[in-house]
Amino acid sequence: MLSFDPKTLTELQLAELIAYHDRKYWEDNSPEISDDDYDALTRALTALNPAHPLLRKVSAVTVASEGKVIHDNPMLSLDKAYSLEEVMEWAGKFARSKDEVILVQPKYDGISALWENGVLSTRGDGYTGEDISDKVPLIELESVAGIMPLSECKSPIRGEIVIREDDFRTLYSKIRNRNGQLYKNSRNAAAGIMGLKDISLMLLQKAKLTLVDYNLHSIQTTYGQLREEWQSFLEKIEALPYPMDGIVLKFSDQTLYESLGATAHHPRGAIAFKFSGIRCQSVLRSVEWSFGKNCLTPVAEIDPVEIGGVTIRHASLHNLQNILDKDLHIGDIVTVERAGDVIPYIVSAEPGEKRVSCLIENCPCCNAPLVRELPELRCINPDCFETRLRMLLSAVKNIGIERLGEPVLRRLMKTLNVRSLPDLFRLTASDFLRVEGFAALSAENLYREIQSARTVPDWQILASMNIKGIGPNIAKVILKAYPFHELRTMTAEQLAAIDGIGPERGKAMETEFRNGAEALDELLSCVTMLEQQQGNNGESKTICFTGKMPEKRSYYEKLAAKAGYEPVSTVTAALSVLVAADVNENSSKLQKARKSGVQILPLEEFLASVSGPEVQTSSSAPVQEDLFGF
Ligand SMILES: [Zn+2]
Repeated sequence: MLSFDPKTLTELQLAELIAYHDRKYWEDNSPEISDDDYDALTRALTALNPAHPLLRKVSAVTVASEGKVIHDNPMLSLDKAYSLEEVMEWAGKFARSKDEVILVQPKYDGISALWENGVLSTRGDGYTGEDISDKVPLIELESVAGIMPLSECKSPIRGEIVIREDDFRTLYSKIRNRNGQLYKNSRNAAAGIMGLKDISLMLLQKAKLTLVDYNLHSIQTTYGQLREEWQSFLEKIEALPYPMDGIVLKFSDQTLYESLGATAHHPRGAIAFKFSGIRCQSVLRSVEWSFGKNCLTPVAEIDPVEIGGVTIRHASLHNLQNILDKDLHIGDIVTVERAGDVIPYIVSAEPGEKRVSCLIENCPCCNAPLVRELPELRCINPDCFETRLRMLLSAVKNIGIERLGEPVLRRLMKTLNVRSLPDLFRLTASDFLRVEGFAALSAENLYREIQSARTVPDWQILASMNIKGIGPNIAKVILKAYPFHELRTMTAEQLAAIDGIGPERGKAMETEFRNGAEALDELLSCVTMLEQQQGNNGESKTICFTGKMPEKRSYYEKLAAKAGYEPVSTVTAALSVLVAADVNENSSKLQKARKSGVQILPLEEFLASVSGPEVQTSSSAPVQEDLFGF
């Protein structure tokens, strides 16, 4: 971050600074400040004098050139926006209706270029570019027509020359520059290589650059949908494997685009949203490993930075693989992003001066040696308290004991030595009174809640077994294909053939079903299993709710699930039942159901048709030992 507030500088001071950093960035190829800081300087200058000539200059990478190319259509740079509000303002000014179609594309952080008639040229100042055709042998084209050597493409292409991030990680871990050193990042490498007078050393090392056609990755939306879909655009575009510093939005209708024309330096029909509005640089200070169900999850602690008015001290690192991929070390300079409500995370990193490994070898809870099961890092000690807690917490949620959260479960484990669902089912109300924080009423309530979960649909039992890869959704899929009592004898091949499982997980599941046999017997001895209600076509019966009801939606969904229905949130023609608080209402769900001939049930009738969980809370759940034929 800048050590001063650019707003305190005079116009002349700002201009001198910007000119200096322009040279460092564009000519020397060794920027001294981050893009964010550079943008802060230009914004401060814009505020003082929007017409300053420095702001109009379209900067271009200096490339070793063979000559000049004059562009028939000027390649102008885009006006910039730093927040969704600024984007909406731009769109709102020119869109003719809510249905105006807008294209969303990546803003690549490379060298913009034009390929036409066998000549490759840079943007230059927008009107005259440099001929860089001698670099063509290094360049692969990615366009709507597919991937090919650029030299084979016959049609004109406008795009950006970049090094793909995956190429940079693999190819460029061995490619050295003229001084025998590795490139620091893909942008430096691309600019460095494009600046070479002689590319023979690069050809020898099999260096590869990519020209990405601007039209290759393009998402279509409308002015009316833009705000709602914003977050999903950001995520989709960021997942692409190119260096990017923002997204480009432009009107799809060419007639509109052209009619809007351009200012001296920007077309009006397009705008670039810069990630710098949501990104910031910081330093990685430490990594904390928190416990998850099956693994340890790394969280970064960084020097505090402010993005969008919020101070950020922690950022998600996802998993071990991500740390290895990014070669993250404590002391590295990291780029943190926070967009909308998403948890801040680390987008990229550059090596710091002093680097310390952030990996751990032993479990922070039980000190057992950790196991790398990429992408995750795992503690496989069955007695590890924290790992056990996370697994039990997940089992508790999946079996439907909704109000038992982590803090209380932790206390139950500590005080009452609870380790499994059967342990929980065997507790009495008076047991809870021995636990800190419980009084007569709260003990009774938790006891009832736990007991009510003893009558439970088959898929919830399967999902609560903590078998890796089997959550509620996969559990339903499996039980649609096979009855519960066949699970234990299922082969890896049978499991692998089920949609969404595949050979590797099938094999692992087979083993886990066998190893978990004893635990499953114990669980089955505590519960009454409800099998899925089957519709005519063998599918399970689906149910959906609409209208204002006295209890929370989740309450009714739970009742329905216990009666063997599968609760869903949308009405389709395939829906079995729609339950309405008021069947005479005109909600969109009711309208759809009437149109598609879906059965509509008043709430009272639905309640009468299912027996509430209270009725089945007796502790006399039948023992089901014979279920597996043992
Ligand atoms: Zn452990």
